Amino acid sequence: MKLQVHRTYNFNAGPSALPFSVLEKAQAELIDFRGTGMSVMELSHRSRTYEEVHNQAINNMKELLSIPDTYEILFLQGGASLQFSMIPMNFLKSGKKASYVMTGSWSEKAFSEAKLFGDVYHAASTKEGNYRSIPKIDQLQYNAEDTYLHLTSNNTIYGTQWTDFPDSGDVPLIADMSSDILSRPIDVNKFALIYAGAQKNLGPSGVTVVIIRKDLLEQANTSVPTMLKYSTYAKNNSLYNTPPTFGIYMLGEVLNWVRELGGLTAISERNEQKAKLIYEAIDSSNDFYIGHADKDSRSLMNLTFNLKTEELEKKFLEQAKKEGFVGINGHRSIGGCRVSSYNAVPIEACKAFSEFMIDFQTKNS
Ligand code: PMP
Repeated sequence: MKLQVHRTYNFNAGPSALPFSVLEKAQAELIDFRGTGMSVMELSHRSRTYEEVHNQAINNMKELLSIPDTYEILFLQGGASLQFSMIPMNFLKSGKKASYVMTGSWSEKAFSEAKLFGDVYHAASTKEGNYRSIPKIDQLQYNAEDTYLHLTSNNTIYGTQWTDFPDSGDVPLIADMSSDILSRPIDVNKFALIYAGAQKNLGPSGVTVVIIRKDLLEQANTSVPTMLKYSTYAKNNSLYNTPPTFGIYMLGEVLNWVRELGGLTAISERNEQKAKLIYEAIDSSNDFYIGHADKDSRSLMNLTFNLKTEELEKKFLEQAKKEGFVGINGHRSIGGCRVSSYNAVPIEACKAFSEFMIDFQTKNS
């Protein structure tokens, strides 16, 4: 008999919900991983069994995102935040500049780190409008000589998301996709480097995925510490030192789950369906709920909104918590409400939350 398991409606912004079937599989395999008599966490990272897990995760990533052979897929640690420093360390050069598109707090952090290493400037910023929007692609201002152009594809805190990306020509385009990687099909060929902390759509925290074009690796600065050089990971299949083995195993399993669901087209339709349930509750509320992002910049991953008064918002958040909806509070830096509807959040959770929103409005109007 299967035990009834308690699972909450988890809308956390990251770490966040993982697919239930992946958790069940990890649980079943935990004590004796594929007949080894030990858990995956206890395997040597030099063993054949682990290597299979590692390479399977790389291959799954490659297949799902249709990543050409001209790219390397790397597993690092230090979160997306370490990428904020590694990118300028490896690629900023004296006498050259890099530009950053400012669309929220994470872009600001990436920019501040880069400033420590060289000459950087804003290609555009939507800060004046309280980061409600994504700039128009044709209004980005950067130079053909720049070493790179950096953007944040989904702004976890403000709830905005790019729908299309610039064709940056010879300027390498670098994207922080921490909060929307694998949520929809993308054309990897537009990017020279994509990075993402795993803890939203990819798996547990502890792994950072980097997809890097091989020619960029060749242009990297050489006087960088070994562990902070992309080439160290590329030359050693991300096995130069001990990688976060359990996280990589989970990542591989999450990718299997995405594949079984039908890949990125299917997952993106599901994500649209989920977001629609919440945005419809906002849009039909007659300003009872006020969406933060401009409609054309809305994120399908982080849906942000406010209520008319702080008092009502407090009541809403308390009530939501009581009803078992977890993680609805906006980021501590801006407050308000935020529904993070990453890949693994089931449609039923969004349906239940949209019903809760409608019911709360009826009772409090
Ligand atoms: N970039 C984005 C878009 C994020 O959402 C986050 C984390 N929420 C980060 C970077 C920082 O990631 P990490 O905690 O993995 O360093």
